[in-house]
Order: sequence, then structure tokens, then C-alpha cells
Amino acid sequence: MKAELSAWLITSAEKLRAGVKDELDIKKLLDGLGIRIILESSASRSGALAQDGDGNWLVVVRGQRRNQNLTAVDRFTAAHELGHYLLQKNWAFSPSFTDKKNYYDCEELCNQFASRLLVDHSKIIEFEILSPQMCLGVIRACAERYSVSLEVAARSILETHSGIGVCAFVKNTDGYSRLWGLSSLNGISPRFPKKRLKSKSVQEEVFTWGRNFLEKTGVRLDFATESTEMSLRTKEFSNKVELSAIMIKPPADV
Ligand SMILES: [Zn+2]
Repeated sequence: MKAELSAWLITSAEKLRAGVKDELDIKKLLDGLGIRIILESSASRSGALAQDGDGNWLVVVRGQRRNQNLTAVDRFTAAHELGHYLLQKNWAFSPSFTDKKNYYDCEELCNQFASRLLVDHSKIIEFEILSPQMCLGVIRACAERYSVSLEVAARSILETHSGIGVCAFVKNTDGYSRLWGLSSLNGISPRFPKKRLKSKSVQEEVFTWGRNFLEKTGVRLDFATESTEMSLRTKEFSNKVELSAIMIKPPADV
């Protein structure tokens, strides 16, 4: 069931972004489907799909905002809710929170759909990534080109390239906190949760993280840290994000 839905959603996303070269106009797309976007201010981000009294579909997008423009994060939330709409309408698939397995499968499917809708994976897959530095450059370029957050850009790169790990951090008064982390060692890993770091340096944290998941293998670990303020999400809210990438390479022939 899940594989079938996943394949169907990927095809749907490709059809919906057909002819769009860079940034997809998500508002226009939803308008065309008769779905209205309602923006609400909230400290944390969330979204919901709903119907009004007349049966018209609405997508509610909550998050931090200074104006009525959609942020990169809002765009992803709206695209994710469109995934729910398509699953509900075409497959009558809208599991409730009590049905945990299906609920989380559904969330994952909608995230995958949103990523494919906003980012052209057929272009991303063509990038040859030869170093962690190159990986960070591609993530940044992808985020800007498709107007998505660094996390969404990183996810699309990891979905199309294996053997990479990416972590994002913010600096606090007393060190660093991890915002998120992803790896593509055996398929894409679940998002690493937010965490306050024990070590003082980002390099140390990424290296420990990399070493932990590589322990059993004899692979070589390359890693890079880059400081960036390019995050679309953080530019808007003036946090400084540091992004790190590591690459996992097979041991060289001796
Ligand atoms: Zn959802």
C-alpha cells in the first residue's frame, strides 16, 4: 500500500510541476485546484487541511511571519497539506493519530510529495557531488533556486545521493544546538531531533556523529563544516545557521 501510494504521489508531483523550471508558485497551484491558503501567525510551524461549511477546501499554514508572503517553510507546509488533500481525495487515505503506523507513514508520504513538488529531482540527481564542500554548495544553490529551506534542499540531495550526512546547528550564548541532521547511508535516515550539544564545537559533534554510524565499516570519513547565513528560513528570522556535511567513501584499494 505504502509503496503504491508513494509511487503515485511522486508521479503526481512530477505532473504538477511539469514545465516549471525553478520556483513553483504553490499559491497559484492551490488556487487552480480550488484550495484556499489561510496564513496564521504562530511560534511553531504547522499546517492543516480543512473544509469550510460550504465544502470548500482550505489549507491552514501556521508559522512565524512578518507579512503575508509565504516563507520557504510555509511553502513546504502548504505542499505537504496538498499531499494530504490528494491522498484523501483519490485514495480515501487520511489516518487518524491513534492509527500510529499509518499516521506516520502518511506524514512521510506527504513530506516526500512536498519535496518532489517543490524541487526538481530529475535535475538534482544529475549533480555529481565529490566532496563535502561541494555538497554544501549544492544544498545552498538548491535552496535558493527552488525557494525551499536548507533542510528541504538537503533532503532532496540526500534522496538522490547516497553516502552523505548533513547537520545544521545554531550558535547559542553557551555553545551550539543541533537543528536537524540527515544521512543517506542505507536510504535516507529519519530526521535527527533538535539537541543541545555536549561538545563545544560543531566539528567535534559532526565527527562523533559520523564515527558512530560508521563504526562497523572500514570506510573513510571526510567532513567539512561551513558557516552560512544563506538559509532562507533563518535569513528571515536572523538566526545564524551553521551547516556541516560529511561524505562516506568506500576504503581505497590497497
Ligand atoms: Zn501532515
